[in-house]
Amino acid sequence: MISFGPVPSRRLGQSLGINNIPGDKICTYACIYCQVGATRHYIPARESFYSPEQIFAAVEEHLGKLQAMPDYLTFVANGEPTLDIHLGESITRLKIFGIPVAVITNASLLGDQQVRDDLSLADWVSVKVDANDEAIWKKINRPHPRLTFDGCKEGLLAFASSYKGFLATETMMVDGVNDGAELLQQNASLIAKIKPATAYLAIPTRPPAMRSVKKPDEAAINRAYHIYSEAGLKTELLLGFEGADAGFTGDARGDILNISAVHPIREETMGEILRKNRAESSLPDQLVREKEIRVVVYQDKKFWIRNFTKR
Ligand code: SF4
Repeated sequence: MISFGPVPSRRLGQSLGINNIPGDKICTYACIYCQVGATRHYIPARESFYSPEQIFAAVEEHLGKLQAMPDYLTFVANGEPTLDIHLGESITRLKIFGIPVAVITNASLLGDQQVRDDLSLADWVSVKVDANDEAIWKKINRPHPRLTFDGCKEGLLAFASSYKGFLATETMMVDGVNDGAELLQQNASLIAKIKPATAYLAIPTRPPAMRSVKKPDEAAINRAYHIYSEAGLKTELLLGFEGADAGFTGDARGDILNISAVHPIREETMGEILRKNRAESSLPDQLVREKEIRVVVYQDKKFWIRNFTKR
């Protein structure tokens, strides 16, 4: 099936997914944490899959069945969407619907000017940046041998310097692989050059390709959040909760759970949430007892973060 959903996405609202890679997964990477299984077709360059007419017809038919239009049409493939040599033409055709188009890419092919040109047509692009160190890149992303670290990095910087839409980065953190402070600082320095609108930090939330892959704990996630923030990045967490990033709604419990899934909540902010919602000061302790949130300490300061291990 080419189109699916819409699925709720914290980043994109209601997102109609477009899988422009047919059959088994086809990718330039074989990431150890990949949540769509092992890479069976491992290729380093673009190919022709579906025609733009096929993509357009599938989306048109799907939209015709929906009660409400989605917020985004999102290329999120069973593999790497930029491997599709017709991606640019498909994006151009889909624009006729008047719905913004998003692409979630591993960024490995951005050394190719044609890929950069195709992606420049999208309104919203997320690029994967898991490592700014060649050995760690090879360990976590397991790239096709014809790809080079420097080539991918140069392509990423070239795209970021010219792209006019909403650019996001996504870093998937794996315990003991890329979640060390020094590696995250290196990563943050590369992302700072990319200047994304938002830098997302994610953890594996579904069964990974390699069984050895583990999520970092809350303390490591909190540390990563601060390292990225201190590098000047607008940072958000993707911990697998799709709650709204709400302000103060009158529901202190909901606000704490939603906000802590996106940002660690510091003591002053927690006090403000409780005060504005006229909630009991004991609520954070109660949520800790219920294992909904956890207390973590970073540079002698106390934070609350959503407890993803409860799931
Ligand atoms: S780039 Fe995406 S699809 Fe490809 S192996 Fe990595 S996680 Fe899986």
